[in-house]
Amino acid sequence: MRTLTKDTVNKIGESVTLLGWVHVRRDHGKLIFIDLRDRWGIVQVVFSPARKELLASANQLRSEWVVEIRGTVKKRPKNMENPVLATGLIEVEADGLNILNESKTPPFALDTDGYEIGEENRLHYRYLDLRRERLKNDLVVRDKVIAYMRDFLHKNNFIEIETPILTKSTPEGARDYVVPSRIYPGKFYALPQSPQQYKQLLMVAGIERYFQIARCFRDEDTRGDRQPEFTQLDIEMSFTDREEILAMTEKLYLSLVRTLFPDKRLTLEADGRIPVMTYKEAMEKYGTDKPDVRKDKNDKDELAFLFVVDFPAFEWKETERRWDATHHPFTKPRVENVEMFWKEFKERPGEMLADQYDFVLNGYEIGGGSIRIHDPELLKAVFEALGNAPEAVERQFGHMLEAFRYGVPPHGGIAPGIDRLVMILQNEPNIREVIAFPKTGDGRDLMMDAPSEIDKKQLKELHITIEAKPL
Ligand code: ASP
Repeated sequence: MRTLTKDTVNKIGESVTLLGWVHVRRDHGKLIFIDLRDRWGIVQVVFSPARKELLASANQLRSEWVVEIRGTVKKRPKNMENPVLATGLIEVEADGLNILNESKTPPFALDTDGYEIGEENRLHYRYLDLRRERLKNDLVVRDKVIAYMRDFLHKNNFIEIETPILTKSTPEGARDYVVPSRIYPGKFYALPQSPQQYKQLLMVAGIERYFQIARCFRDEDTRGDRQPEFTQLDIEMSFTDREEILAMTEKLYLSLVRTLFPDKRLTLEADGRIPVMTYKEAMEKYGTDKPDVRKDKNDKDELAFLFVVDFPAFEWKETERRWDATHHPFTKPRVENVEMFWKEFKERPGEMLADQYDFVLNGYEIGGGSIRIHDPELLKAVFEALGNAPEAVERQFGHMLEAFRYGVPPHGGIAPGIDRLVMILQNEPNIREVIAFPKTGDGRDLMMDAPSEIDKKQLKELHITIEAKPL
């Protein structure tokens, strides 16, 4: 039976079988030492001259070869202990070696933290890059964070529901990624910029408390901290208000940090709550809608969460010469009814407030949400106010208006991003470090070589002709 490297410490005097990779091989004249690595760590293996044949095959071993080693766990001689290593008090004296696979020499070092290596190279060989301790640990922590969220929400009566990836455009302010339909020539699916409409439709369906670890796709111009696809903790609740949503979010995040990251210091209000600031206050005091309210910005273990509330409902889009929703058009402007909406929108569109909030951590926006419009007539009015002709509203959002005419409960939600949160918790410089297979800053997957061309037959099936091929 296999023994994991981490369990060798409890097996002194026992015979064990280890499986893993050769992390490092050290030749000490007569003795050969191997640091054997598996997912759980490293253990030192010694090949002694007493077994000549075995020593000879150990001599062939190179970094990253995959091996099965049998041996006996022994206490290390007194002055040979390694306090840095979890298994540093023991070593395994080998009596059998089976080479399961050889490996080419890796293109870069795997026993460093990897920051010193060019990112293009790291992303090209991501499966090797992920073997390094730091990245493996980032993935382990990410999994713990997500597991904590799932567990917390399940305990609070939420259910996780998957929503489609092939869908119709949802306006979150970015460009859509589109997928051509083979069966319906000239028609396209859009990848969801977020599950916004589906989660609202789940409220119409009577689900009341929904969440999803959801992938979102946004074709935005590149920026260091953005990815074409990213992951959100998407939440929606019925019969709720801002206070309840923020209190639930606060409870989840504070308990998550306290449980999984007990060494972090939380900067909170005197009463132990996450501070709440209005958009106006944030802009006046800090000149930004995502202020960094840490006490000491050089302290890597300080976490300062903040809720920013009362955003303006609309902002002027100069390029399109129209008003646009600051968050998204489903967000409820603070008006009582359609008449009041039109009156205010005509008189002072830029001053209208929305029931919208952002969630900020150490100066990063880590999420946003709102109370939604649940009056179909008001929703229609907002779409029209944003410059959509009534036919266009019907074509693009008719399904929402229709659904809302069948008894939609008041509802609202929030969607904190997972990538940024884990990046901050792990003190990583960018979100690519905490995503298993990220894209480059300019949207390429260097390992899979995507995007890439598809063959003529596929294009034909999809009724697509490529007009001009850029050089
Ligand atoms: N769908 C929104 C977003 O992705 C979040 C929300 O309003 O719940 O930003």
